[in-house]
Amino acid sequence: MPDSSAPQVVDLFVIGGGINGCGIARDAAGRGLSVELAEMNDLASATSSASTKLFHGGLRYLEYFEFRLVREALIERETLLRAMPHISWPMRFVLPYHKDMRFEGGTPTAKLLGTVMPWMRGRRPAWLIRLGLFLYDNLGGRKILPGTSTLKLPGSPEGAPLQDRFAKAYEYSDCWVEDARLVVLNARDAEARGARIMTRTRVVSAEREGDLWRIETEDIATGARGTHRAKMLVNAGGPWVGNIIRNTVRSNVRLVRGSHIVTKRLYDHDKCYFFQGTDGRIIFAIPYEQDFTLIGTTDQDHENPDEKPVCTDREKDYLLDFANQYFKRQLTREDIVWTYSGVRPLYDDGASSATAATRDYTLKVDTAGGAPLLNVFGGKITTYRRLAEAALDKIAPFFPGLSGKWTAGVTLPGGDFEVSNKTALTEKLQAEYPFLDAFWAVRLIRAYGTEAWDVLGEAKTAEDLGRDFGATLTEAEVRWQIRHEFARAPEDIVWRRTKLGLRMSEAQIDALKEWIAAEAADGRAAAAQ
Ligand SMILES: Cc1cc2nc3c(=O)[nH]c(=O)nc-3n(C[C@H](O)[C@H](O)[C@H](O)COP(=O)(O)OP(=O)(O)OC[C@H]3O[C@@H](n4cnc5c(N)ncnc54)[C@H](O)[C@@H]3O)c2cc1C
Repeated sequence: MPDSSAPQVVDLFVIGGGINGCGIARDAAGRGLSVELAEMNDLASATSSASTKLFHGGLRYLEYFEFRLVREALIERETLLRAMPHISWPMRFVLPYHKDMRFEGGTPTAKLLGTVMPWMRGRRPAWLIRLGLFLYDNLGGRKILPGTSTLKLPGSPEGAPLQDRFAKAYEYSDCWVEDARLVVLNARDAEARGARIMTRTRVVSAEREGDLWRIETEDIATGARGTHRAKMLVNAGGPWVGNIIRNTVRSNVRLVRGSHIVTKRLYDHDKCYFFQGTDGRIIFAIPYEQDFTLIGTTDQDHENPDEKPVCTDREKDYLLDFANQYFKRQLTREDIVWTYSGVRPLYDDGASSATAATRDYTLKVDTAGGAPLLNVFGGKITTYRRLAEAALDKIAPFFPGLSGKWTAGVTLPGGDFEVSNKTALTEKLQAEYPFLDAFWAVRLIRAYGTEAWDVLGEAKTAEDLGRDFGATLTEAEVRWQIRHEFARAPEDIVWRRTKLGLRMSEAQIDALKEWIAAEAADGRAAAAQ
């Protein structure tokens, strides 16, 4: 007799609700596999909400000869843009140039240049930047994004915030993406295709039992234990990937912390800056959340994934000093309104510095001792969909007859409109809900796309959306995020799925916390009746 208390066997059990775990779960569920995913905190609570939020090829990786990665990421930008025109959009990047700039010569390009043109040692000449941008324009089959142009800075809006010594700049294209929302939408789509998404559920052990995996989980709120059985295990634990496999295979992960600072808006146009530093690194300054500027990032080795990454004073000063070499206005710590940090779980390729460690991904299947395990190392937000396809290529041999690739061209929830129609969609929303001001309408379209109509429902006035917690965050929106987007705590809402924490007071966030607790208590009471 079969044991009726034994958990049902699923095809795949995924550890980790970051972009890679959710991307793999979505792709696998869409191919008909039964999938369970466990995330120990909120979705995107680790690295996948702490990125620079660019769908980019990675201009600087060209200097490391990472042509495969750059080409794949460049091609992918437009595929992703079409699939999610609400949460991603094209951006222009201004790269100021000055002939006296000198650079550390650690990259393969700099070494090559130093050998064949020794007089150039330490310099990144203008022709090299133009060559890089030429490759960037042409490696990845652009259709939507405009190519590189040259800018005269004096008298231009792009030159206005910069020091007078910068007369010339190059301008190129990449894309922005709301990283935390990208994860949530992948999880929602995976769920819609049959996956079971368990948040606040930590995997405490995973052991092989012959042809199957036996996985023990713990609900981090209640301590309740669960047992799951799966034919294959996917370890997409990000910074914890090494801990999860410590007893299974040799750990090959290098943790590199990156921090960002946020200031009030530093300039009046909507382009980003790409600044080159004297240490061979680069940083971005990016228009952020309509009224702010985002500056980052740093590259610091970070030993312990359980140590919460924070932006240290040293990192703050590093980013401020870097930006101060370019902006006229000299920034101080007083200008910083928020910081965030994340840990890159990079594949350890033995590189000497954190900056040089590869950003490419590596997938390793381990079948030693029975049921298969797939470990995911590295990767970028930009390549998550391709990483998921590559993961399914590794998974497919264990599930004969599995259907093929499907995610390119399939939109994420709310993304079913043309990239070029975003302004029109925002105007339509404002016309149908005249109580929305411009900030609110733009915010809703960028978060929910065509689903903004579902969030707002029948509302005729702002009051119809229930309580306003501050900064246009209403009860209707909070309910939507709790019901449809796996949100449970205030930080899930104000710091991940929206960034309204930048505009809300502590008292307003506390009031939201009380409201959520009361709603949860009501829900529990109703369930107990
Ligand atoms: C500073 C910085 C800037 C970046 N900028 C960019 C950029 O602009 N563009 C780009 O393309 N990429 C960028 N990246 C890279 C990108 O953010 C990461 O590659 C990506 O987010 C990694 O996703 P992941 O799913 O592997 O890891 P994570 O997002 O960390 O997800 C892993 C998840 O596993 C969960 N987990 C771990 N152990 C367990 C367990 N035992 N049980 C249950 N759950 C568990 C964790 O809670 C976590 O949520 C950046 C990274 C950093 C740090």
